[in-house]
Amino acid sequence: METTLVLIKPGGVQRNLIGEITRRIEARNLKVVGLKLVNAKRETVEEHYGEHRGKGFFEDVVNYLCSGPVVAMAVQGVNATKAIRTMMGATNPLEATPGTVRGDLALTIDDNLTHSSSDPEAAERELKLWFPEGTVA
Ligand code: ATP
Ligand code: MG
Repeated sequence: METTLVLIKPGGVQRNLIGEITRRIEARNLKVVGLKLVNAKRETVEEHYGEHRGKGFFEDVVNYLCSGPVVAMAVQGVNATKAIRTMMGATNPLEATPGTVRGDLALTIDDNLTHSSSDPEAAERELKLWFPEGTVA
């Protein structure tokens, strides 16, 4: 059993896709064990995307995550991290397979709707960052 982090980025919240994205996660029989709508602190987002510090898109992606409310969700299930990554699709929606969230609902890399942890170690780190109070399981 794993727990992983999903963020619905500001574009997804603005486009009223909280329900659609959460529906897909629940339909996969993954369990939501943490859920909140937050205006993310800049320092949280910079730490979250720390691996990308210094890259050309770092400022843009941090600004985007801080541009409006995000949904932070802790999701639990067998192989949850890989299952969610596959469900969200390739980083660039143009390369994302139809049937994935990005392949169905997104068009550009700078507005690709969701974040999900890349592996279980990243998930553990990110869950501590976004849910310092802990989750329900
Ligand atoms: P995320 O971490 O948001 O789940 P990811 O793991 O699929 O996405 P990363 O390589 O971690 O992709 O990139 C983090 C985010 O930075 C991407 O979601 C995207 O919004 C942005 N990004 C990544 N690469 C580029 C790029 N070449 N040009 C513009 N933006 C980019
Ligand atoms: Mg990533």
